[in-house]
Amino acid sequence: MSETTDTIFGKIIRREIPAEIVYEDNLALAFKDVNPQAPVHILVIPKQPIAKLSDAESKDHALMGHLLLTAKRVAEQAGLTNGYRLVINTGPDGGQTVYHLHIHILGGRSLGWPPG
Ligand code: AMP
Repeated sequence: MSETTDTIFGKIIRREIPAEIVYEDNLALAFKDVNPQAPVHILVIPKQPIAKLSDAESKDHALMGHLLLTAKRVAEQAGLTNGYRLVINTGPDGGQTVYHLHIHILGGRSLGWPPG
């Protein structure tokens, strides 16, 4: 899939397409994955359209920390008291399909390791 400056996640941020939004602040948005791979599957994204983790730069370090802490907060809000997994698929070999950086929060069942 090609990289573009706008993606389906940009449309979700701008409310051009619907999503089940569970958290929002001035820097980040979290919404339920439309094709859940676990009982809880939520995506945390920056509002700033960084295409992939490997494009993040030193100037983004506060935003990156904010996304990680937001994922923790959203996982707590979702009731994942027994643990959860955060995943950032990056680039073709990482299995990334949407080129707007996102953290997957997966939980609600025991997750296998290693992933495929
Ligand atoms: P990745 O493969 O890491 O790029 O993950 C992209 C994720 O976005 C997949 O888990 C999709 O199910 C999810 N996704 C794609 N379109 C939407 C959408 N409109 N609303 C919610 N999740 C979506």
